[in-house]
Amino acid sequence: MAKEVVSIVVSCYNEEKSLPLFYKEINKVFDSLPKYKLELILVNDGSKDKTLEEMKKLHQEDNRVRFISFSRNFGKEAAMYAGLENATGDYVGLMDADLQDPPSLLPNMLDLLNDLEKDYDCVATRRVSRNGEPPIRSFFAKAFYKIINKMSDVELVDGARDYRLMKRKMVDAILELKEYNRFSKGLFGFVGFNIKWLEYKNIERIAGETKWSFWKLFKYAIEGIVAFTTVPLTIAAILGILFCIIAFIMIVVIIAKTLIFGDPTSGWPSMICVIFLVSGVQLFCLGIIGEYLSKTYLETKKRPVYIVKETEKDLEKK
Ligand code: UDP
Ligand code: MG
Repeated sequence: MAKEVVSIVVSCYNEEKSLPLFYKEINKVFDSLPKYKLELILVNDGSKDKTLEEMKKLHQEDNRVRFISFSRNFGKEAAMYAGLENATGDYVGLMDADLQDPPSLLPNMLDLLNDLEKDYDCVATRRVSRNGEPPIRSFFAKAFYKIINKMSDVELVDGARDYRLMKRKMVDAILELKEYNRFSKGLFGFVGFNIKWLEYKNIERIAGETKWSFWKLFKYAIEGIVAFTTVPLTIAAILGILFCIIAFIMIVVIIAKTLIFGDPTSGWPSMICVIFLVSGVQLFCLGIIGEYLSKTYLETKKRPVYIVKETEKDLEKK
């Protein structure tokens, strides 16, 4: 019987130091899995260091290694999408290059997927601790998951990592979702299927540094909300109605007061406060609508999610 192919997609941005270490580890794991054939797909997301050279070297040493190099940095979501599109395996895994996703879990994941009784389509991972992360970042991350899960029908799991191994069916389903603004954590939830969650403690990256600043994470959170729920639009509409009702009641009260007690001119400061409050709410609601409109605008352009400059096939032609 032909060996089943396991594609492992690794998105890399400035990972020249981590990549050789990662390759060594993944190699070790697949040496212990003679039943499966590895296809390692390295995606170079416009790295500014020698990541691409590392990839070429690995490809030349080992023909199971393939690579896709982007024309610039398109972000991890784009890198994962490119990897999934190009993977040919019966199983496809997504991993980071920094060994924060332990390859030692792979044999267990494959066993779980092959368990006929349990019938899992995907084994995903979530970290149960946030060691080595600033407390303020953990706090906002927790708040984000609480809020988005209240607002969205698609469940987002707190602490879920992108590290997962999927069967072909689920990969094809993900690839059916062709949107430009890709928020993978939500897309994985959206397609459904039977998912088994493995939990592990957070591991710090082996080399290099994280590419996530607080600001980047904040923007990522807004993206997730806009991509997976329209509840903020409803909130904006409800706020509008609420303010109309308050204004109406105030008008009635003021007219009644004037008719009964006459009209002593006063209340200038309080009026300014009300004007500020109401215009603040208006701008806030306009901002919410703007977020959705901007995403719609980007989607209608139908730009490609990523642009490839070079792959291993180009090397072979030379
Ligand atoms: N990454 C990427 N493109 C980017 C940023 C990151 O492909 O624009 C890759 C990065 O090389 C790594 C993975 O995504 O393999 C996770 O990044 P990082 O370790 O910085 O994130 P963290 O683990 O801190 O969440
Ligand atoms: Mg990392």
